[in-house]
Amino acid sequence: MKYDITIIGSGIIGSSIAYYLSKYDCSILVVDKENDVANEVSMANSAIVHAGHDPKPGTLKGELNVKGNRMYPKLCEDLGASYVNCGAFTVMYSEEQRETFNDLVERAKQRNIPYEILSKEEALAQEENITDNVIQVLSLPTTSIVIPWEIALKELQVAILNGAEVKLNCEVNGIDANDNGFILHTNQGDIESTYVINSAGLFSDVVANMLEPQEYEINTRRGEYFVLSHDAKDFVNHIIYPIPTSKGKGILAVPTVDKNILLGPTADKIDSKYGINTTADGLNQVRTSIFNCLKNVPLHHIIRTFAGIRPSLEYRDFIIKKADNYDHFINLIGIDSPGIASAPAIAEYVENLMDLPYPIKDSYETKNPYHNAFQNMSVEEKDAYIKTHPEYGNIVCRCEQISEGEIIDCIHQPLGATSIKAVKKRVRPGMGKCQGGFCQPLVLEILARELHIKPEEVLYDQIGSNVVLDWKGGHEDA
Ligand SMILES: Cc1cc2nc3c(=O)[nH]c(=O)nc-3n(C[C@H](O)[C@H](O)[C@H](O)COP(=O)(O)OP(=O)(O)OC[C@H]3O[C@@H](n4cnc5c(N)ncnc54)[C@H](O)[C@@H]3O)c2cc1C
Repeated sequence: MKYDITIIGSGIIGSSIAYYLSKYDCSILVVDKENDVANEVSMANSAIVHAGHDPKPGTLKGELNVKGNRMYPKLCEDLGASYVNCGAFTVMYSEEQRETFNDLVERAKQRNIPYEILSKEEALAQEENITDNVIQVLSLPTTSIVIPWEIALKELQVAILNGAEVKLNCEVNGIDANDNGFILHTNQGDIESTYVINSAGLFSDVVANMLEPQEYEINTRRGEYFVLSHDAKDFVNHIIYPIPTSKGKGILAVPTVDKNILLGPTADKIDSKYGINTTADGLNQVRTSIFNCLKNVPLHHIIRTFAGIRPSLEYRDFIIKKADNYDHFINLIGIDSPGIASAPAIAEYVENLMDLPYPIKDSYETKNPYHNAFQNMSVEEKDAYIKTHPEYGNIVCRCEQISEGEIIDCIHQPLGATSIKAVKKRVRPGMGKCQGGFCQPLVLEILARELHIKPEEVLYDQIGSNVVLDWKGGHEDA
């Protein structure tokens, strides 16, 4: 099959581009080598829609972060995606940080980003766990938090409603150019495409080099985190940033959409694109550095650790441009932080760069109709609903209070969950205190039943990650 546009990568960048381009009257395909959308960098990060005060002047990062931040409220409303405008405090706790603090204030001023400078007393009145060493705080009220993989999924669901296709487990291994465009060689056969967009995250350098030899090389920098349980939810109300250094934004405390707290990330150069393991050294850095800005850190509420890898470039800015010799091939390379905050603005930037020859459809969707309506019901509404839909009264995940009905829904939506991790990403069973100890076998049984596969075939995540080898439970003939 030949497509007009093929997007390599279903992370938040590829998905945002698919969402914004799906209004054009042309065929769009999104391919991803993973078993679910947004399963790499967009899956493991701080999930902050930064205000845009941090990137250096004159960078694409600065321009697109500020713009993206302003686009998010409407985008999330259209998608029905979570968006919490919690605001951020950047904490100066040493006089040596004053110059950088003043630079950040100046950038906020020049970019028309709302800000306020708080005294020690004003800051402590709003966030009692800020360190007593605090001198001043830069408050950035437009900073928000989202769930990046939820945004990617919901954007792709809308793109599918507009006619786009998504192929998972489809890895691009080689690219040739011909007179009509490009041939992508994949593990699912060749795909022809007039335009190609390389939004392959950590592998964007590899993909770019498949077409023409480039100088690009992603420098992988790992960020390690602790996750605190809901019991710590009142520890901070704002995102707490330290003053950034040449290594990055430093170790933060981030209240999440789902009322956990993240502590992290580190920023350590590693030699692998696959090194998402945590390390004793990395976690120790988090454990000690977090006390620079905060006190009373409730480390006894840690329920999990995780790591993500930044697809950074030595160059330190985003590269978003046409391939040197091919106008119809767009490379997005080095999309590290603030990639999430910038994602909708990046998509618009790509749209302008491509100047597509296709007309815009007479009508197309921008809103996502697939919501977890049950979660947003009042107790009385839930009670009434359960009387006619008893599967919503069967609580599968006790920690997060997720019902069987919600799990069934997320399996059967477009781009529905086909693995335990995909269910977890969509409706949260396994995200709570017991980390799936109780609900994982139940989710496995539901997946087997709903997908009409054997329990032994149910995957945790990628192909080959089967959870049980021999099932003696009640669904042998599923
Ligand atoms: C620790 C950490 C913290 C961060 N915090 C923030 C933050 O708070 N705010 C913020 O704005 N940004 C943050 N970022 C940056 C942000 O996460 C990234 O900019 C963003 O997620 C990149 O999205 P992407 O779509 O480019 O990459 P990805 O999400 O990795 O998507 C790329 C996709 O391409 C697919 N792919 C790769 N190669 C191939 C191939 N050959 N064939 C087919 N598919 C392929 C992959 O499977 C993947 O799904 C953080 C990053 C990290 C690591």
